[in-house]
Amino acid sequence: MSKTCCRTTSVGLHRRNPSRPVSLTLRATFDTLLSSASAFVDKPILADIYIAPAADFPNARDFAYCHVEPDWAGKRLIGVAPKLEVQKAERVVALLMHEIAHAALMQMGVPDHSEREADQMAEALWDVPLYYDSEYVQTLREGGIRPRPSHLPR
Ligand SMILES: [Zn+2]
Repeated sequence: MSKTCCRTTSVGLHRRNPSRPVSLTLRATFDTLLSSASAFVDKPILADIYIAPAADFPNARDFAYCHVEPDWAGKRLIGVAPKLEVQKAERVVALLMHEIAHAALMQMGVPDHSEREADQMAEALWDVPLYYDSEYVQTLREGGIRPRPSHLPR
């Protein structure tokens, strides 16, 4: 199955154990974003993050995806590319916001939503505009493209 930047899928994308942990820096960033989003929606957003194999991200702008494993009691899992660990903060945070927004929408019973809807959810959760940079990757850097360019996967 081909994977795009952040394809969401209900079940069975990965049966393997998501065992490779992220760095402490990425963990701290993810946990901070998750708890602030959970405070906004007034309930815990159930999601976790792990490093997925580099082969899952064949395209330059592929950095993450969100999926559900049956064994994880409905918890959303966000697999990120190893290369995410060395990206600029404005890109890492924006990507994680977008993926957590996917997880929040799935948890809210909206598994079939668009990429733009995920961006809109992220903007609502953190009250910040989400842009796309010159490589068509999410960024918090002002002056980027907004909303998501229509030629990207929807
Ligand atoms: Zn996405």
